[in-house]
Amino acid sequence: MMVLTKKMIEIRSILQTVGQSNALTLPSIVVIGSQSSGKSSVLEAIVGHEFLPKGSNMVTRRPIELTLVNTPDAQAEYGEFPALSLGKITDFSHIQRTLTELNLAVPDSECVSDDPIKLTISSPHVPDLSLIDLPGYIQVVGHDQPIELKQKISDLCDKYIQPPNVILAISAADVDLANSTALRASRRVDPRGERTIGVVTKMDLVDATRGASILNDRKYPLRLGYVGVVSRVPPQTSSLFKKGNEGIASAISKNEHAFFSSHPLEFGPEAGVAVGTTTLRKKLMQVLEQTMAASLQTTGDAIRQELEEATYEFKVQYNDRPLSAESYLAESLDAFKHSFKEFTESFGRPQVREMLKEELDQRVLDLLASRYWNKPVTSLTPTLPEPDALADLPTADPESLYWHRKLDASSSALTKLGIGRLATTVVANAIQAHVDRLISQSTFASHPFARQAITEAASGILNERFYSTSDQVENCIKPYKFEIDVEDGEWTRGRENVGEVLKNELRACEEAVKTVEKIAGGRRKLKDVIGFVDKARKGEVEVVGEGASGAGGFSSDLLQRGKEAIFLRDRATLLRMRLQALKSKQCAKKENRYYCPEIFLDVVATKLTSTAVLFLNVELLSEFYYNFPRELDVRLGRGLSKEEVERFAKEDPRVKGHLEVIRRKELLELVLEKMEGLKALEVEERGKRARG
Ligand code: GDP
Repeated sequence: MMVLTKKMIEIRSILQTVGQSNALTLPSIVVIGSQSSGKSSVLEAIVGHEFLPKGSNMVTRRPIELTLVNTPDAQAEYGEFPALSLGKITDFSHIQRTLTELNLAVPDSECVSDDPIKLTISSPHVPDLSLIDLPGYIQVVGHDQPIELKQKISDLCDKYIQPPNVILAISAADVDLANSTALRASRRVDPRGERTIGVVTKMDLVDATRGASILNDRKYPLRLGYVGVVSRVPPQTSSLFKKGNEGIASAISKNEHAFFSSHPLEFGPEAGVAVGTTTLRKKLMQVLEQTMAASLQTTGDAIRQELEEATYEFKVQYNDRPLSAESYLAESLDAFKHSFKEFTESFGRPQVREMLKEELDQRVLDLLASRYWNKPVTSLTPTLPEPDALADLPTADPESLYWHRKLDASSSALTKLGIGRLATTVVANAIQAHVDRLISQSTFASHPFARQAITEAASGILNERFYSTSDQVENCIKPYKFEIDVEDGEWTRGRENVGEVLKNELRACEEAVKTVEKIAGGRRKLKDVIGFVDKARKGEVEVVGEGASGAGGFSSDLLQRGKEAIFLRDRATLLRMRLQALKSKQCAKKENRYYCPEIFLDVVATKLTSTAVLFLNVELLSEFYYNFPRELDVRLGRGLSKEEVERFAKEDPRVKGHLEVIRRKELLELVLEKMEGLKALEVEERGKRARG
């Protein structure tokens, strides 16, 4: 029973996934021969199908690693290219076309490549074999081929005919064996003829006596012997079988049988020579089985050594810590959700309120500046009568309708600002920024895929909630658009509040002046420019053509700084005055709101903030806090396929290394276990043979 080869072929396919290492390759039968020696015909006779590329122009340009798998209980015969994911191909002419394309993909300039094509053929009619077909040796280089081609082919073959491989050296009977390139090559690497099988093709082309003498060759004796074959498909059957995609095996064997049995003297049982494709097949199976058995020990040792190395690496680099892509993802996700939970506890109503109020404080300042405080310095040319920048301060008669309207307009500008959108945007942006920060601090930071998934999960929920939240908020602040009641307590708090806001603004102004000073080249210089600009605005100096080149001996850039400084100076003066006003007795009472628009607007802003926060909390925060972790589970948990999880984990090079060493270790352990089983089986078989 030939069980070893089949099992070893299985093991080999596992080993191939571990990674390429020459020590781990199991023996194959390597097929070499000159062009037109009949190499393809022999292989096709063994497989029982025409499937190899044909053509005059050197079509085998890459090694074909052909694995034959015997499937005794199956009907179907098919081929598979494991690297191409074309599925099971039952049409052998399709396999032939594919092989031709793969070969022709090697550019003419290179002609041969040592990148093998892997092909597996499964059939109840093939033996378990692993064969490697190589480009045929050439005698003369074609005019359109590179001169080094001959050498390239020879080097490629040399690479494959090394031990423990078995060499199948094909020579044609109508060429003197002494001139057989295949035999010469194998003799170089296997001088004692221990692992070479000689195949002599085209036996029908020489007369029988000569044929028999070739097979009895003693010049290069082979332990595994010579086999003579006639493996050409009989002409009349060829096209017929091709069409039906039927096996050609029986046609060949009938033809062959007819030939050899018509020369019983030379090729009959008594003649002592090996002939026929069937004999060759059997020999190949036996030889491969024996070679596999012989390599059990050495390959086993090599695997054991690889395993030791992997185990050592696992221990030293990864502390023997178990890891799988799934567990890595699950742990990362848990940690992330945990950090998110912590964030939710630190980002609630008070924080949202503070954020929103700050935003509205800024709007209040803008309103005050544009409606109460300021006349921007835009030009040097005097606009007479020049209103004093500070002349519009609210010192006017509180009974005056002018001031009433001004305050009403200001507060309605605030309430009609679009608080709904503004507040929702501010909070949504803050959440998104926090999520980004959490990602950067998590293991996901080094995983672009997860990063994107999380960011999208967050923005998805926020976008979905955006309109309803902002509508809700807008609806709820609606009453303030019509009427605003102020209580004493609110007024007092507003007074304190806005006092702080103005103080901060004053500080900011003073800082800004310093910056302008620096840019302008010092306090002195700036003072000069300011003096000039002031005079110019009062019409005390004449300004001719204020333009890009400047005026008064100052560059236009410097003049610009001067204007900025004046603006800031006026703003600071004004802020100090207003702070003074806020402290006054008048501003202590809410009835005097026309004197103190700052306080009134602050009260309005506070009311708007409180209402908005109430709804933001329900509509946006709570919803987000509830849905986000669930969305994460979908996008990074259940929703991912095994391959996606694997791809995710390997985005991190260290995790990738860790996972790979574990996988390598597992596969090697598995292979070793299988090898041990095989060894036991082999010993048993040997025992049986010895007894029987
Ligand atoms: P390769 O180039 O070594 O693969 O050779 P092929 O298998 O393509 O065969 C070359 C030529 O020899 C083809 O025309 C085959 O039909 C022919 N041929 C192969 N084997 C035999 C054989 O046993 N007898 C005869 N008469 N011709 C053969």
